[in-house]
Amino acid sequence: MLTGIQVALVGGDARQIEVIRKFSEMDATVTLIGFDNLQSSFSGVTKEEMDPKVFMNLDALVLPPVGTDDAGGVETIFSSQSIRLTEEHISSLPKHAKVYTGMAKPYLIQLCSNAQIELVELFDLDDVAIYNSIPTAEGALMMAIQNTDITIHGSECMVLGMGRTGKTLARVLKGLGAHVRVGVRRKEHFARAWEMGFDPFYIDQLALEVSNIDLIFNTIPTMIVTAQVIAQIPPRAIIIDLASKPGGTDFRFAEKRGIKSILAPGLPGIVAPKTAGRIIANTLCQLILEDTGKRRNAE
Ligand code: NAP
Repeated sequence: MLTGIQVALVGGDARQIEVIRKFSEMDATVTLIGFDNLQSSFSGVTKEEMDPKVFMNLDALVLPPVGTDDAGGVETIFSSQSIRLTEEHISSLPKHAKVYTGMAKPYLIQLCSNAQIELVELFDLDDVAIYNSIPTAEGALMMAIQNTDITIHGSECMVLGMGRTGKTLARVLKGLGAHVRVGVRRKEHFARAWEMGFDPFYIDQLALEVSNIDLIFNTIPTMIVTAQVIAQIPPRAIIIDLASKPGGTDFRFAEKRGIKSILAPGLPGIVAPKTAGRIIANTLCQLILEDTGKRRNAE
């Protein structure tokens, strides 16, 4: 249980509801900031303003999956008021407190570093990334179905990158009966892709592999679907880029060639906010429990 642990959530979307629910079930003391329009009531939960004084007794500060923007703005769908996280807020936290988010921008990293407060980026954690790959793959599938006039079954699909997202997506596509080619750069990934029944190739051969493709899913967070590659893609093909912004596709050139290319960020929060929220909630509780145990043992 998280009895006696003080947590504040600042802003967010539908995913945070699951986080609030879990903290409440675990008996944490929860403060919500930027949730003025939230109707649901949970026990042990109060609403506050974005006042540095609220931060002084916290054990954990939970920010939305995207953290802040480049100027400290925190998005919230539960309030019409804008919220900005500043140095004053972070430096009011006790030194043992941690800041949790999905992915942090340089602004937040700098703020936490200046105040010597530990920042945890949940989407960097292997288990979270693997769990998240499930709604991501389902979201990618949704995008593919919405934007094609053919079935996934029997289609020529290509997944670029065989990391946590690529592996799950390739498996899901194959499960639906697609022919799946997987672009990798490491020998061990080539071997694993072959073992899993995909058709692997080395990513430096990408331009030679795309001539007969229906769907390209990119998970590599660097420019990979270049103009040279796009020049070889048939006009019917669709590129769905899952890599974090700005993606790994030359969107300008794709548009020029009339090839539909879509940057599709934040799919778990779009297609399965409840599941995505539970993934975050379970991980947060586990991490905070571990921290509390360590702190209490040290006292
Ligand atoms: P990951 O496990 O690190 O996988 C990334 C893959 O890209 C790895 O196979 C890696 O190969 C490969 N790669 C990286 N740089 C490369 C390069 N220069 N050339 C060739 N291959 C390269 O990451 P992930 O968890 O799968 O996430 C992938 C991307 O999707 C990230 O940008 C993440 O933020 C994003 N994402 C988006 C959504 C969404 O909703 N759209 C959801 C989850 C994640 P090596 O293993 O050889 O390094």
